[in-house]
Amino acid sequence: MKPTLVLVGRPNVGKSTLFNRLTRSREALVADVPGLTRDRHYGHGRIGPKPFLVVDTGGLDPEAQEGILAEMARQTRLAVDEADVVVFLVDARQGVTPQDHAIAEELRRRGRKTLVAVNKAEGLPLEEARTEFFELGLGEPIPISAAHGDRVAELLERALSDF
Ligand code: GDP
Ligand code: MG
Repeated sequence: MKPTLVLVGRPNVGKSTLFNRLTRSREALVADVPGLTRDRHYGHGRIGPKPFLVVDTGGLDPEAQEGILAEMARQTRLAVDEADVVVFLVDARQGVTPQDHAIAEELRRRGRKTLVAVNKAEGLPLEEARTEFFELGLGEPIPISAAHGDRVAELLERALSDF
């Protein structure tokens, strides 16, 4: 069985950019089934010989300010249900936000294998990115650049090491 890697995080952290990098070819995309895959995109990825399934989550309504933290937690719960590994993206340029904390709390409660990827870290001091996001309580964060590809292979190797 291919492991399923699910990308979570608040809007604009770079989930879709990372998804696109992991599923470059057209054949990698799995057709979205209306109804079944609400707010989800599925694709096939590969690191070395290891295939995996990757899921992009989205669909948070930016207008829905009311209860946005609760909605974020709900989306995160749904995503984790289908994950073997969760990649939780945060934004190196914005730092830790209250929404990040809400998602982190949900992920810690669920206990699924989770890696924190500190995206948009190109050109920033790596140690700073790691230290700041360590407070999310989900282990050693990995600074990456989804846009440029920096340390994406390292992220995948850690994410899929048990599979
Ligand atoms: P999503 O809402 O989490 O799916 O985020 P997107 O993938 O749509 O990206 C949101 C914005 O962040 C876009 O303008 C991207 O071009 C930008 N972005 C994504 N990854 C990176 C990165 O590694 N570095 C920088 N500087 N910008 C990025
Ligand atoms: Mg997106």
